[in-house]
Amino acid sequence: MSRSPKGLPKASPQYYVYINSDEWREKCKKCHALTKYHCVVFPWAKSLNVHHLTYRNFQKEMPLRDTVPLSKFAHWIIHWWIFWKTPLRPWVNFLLRSLLIFWAVIWFVLPSKPKRTRRKKYA
Ligand SMILES: [Zn+2]
Repeated sequence: MSRSPKGLPKASPQYYVYINSDEWREKCKKCHALTKYHCVVFPWAKSLNVHHLTYRNFQKEMPLRDTVPLSKFAHWIIHWWIFWKTPLRPWVNFLLRSLLIFWAVIWFVLPSKPKRTRRKKYA
């Protein structure tokens, strides 16, 4: 069983119940909203996952401090052993937090796209 730094067993019932709860889903929505559903690593990709930078504040997560929005591919990379189980991890987290700040500002400042009106392909 893999354990998070604070000793919360990742496969514990508590973890799964929480990850499938509406409470967590709401937090994910807020996290994704920061970048308007864009991945912080690959901004052209849709953010579909919310990654825990740390489990220190498990169930009291705040975006940026504890979580970042990621695409599936970026999330997969972040969980590679080299980024996850080595002293590189604090640097990865630092980078992810910096990217989140950067992209949150960019997506906030950028004018939102005009609402797409359905146009017939062949008029
Ligand atoms: Zn993750």
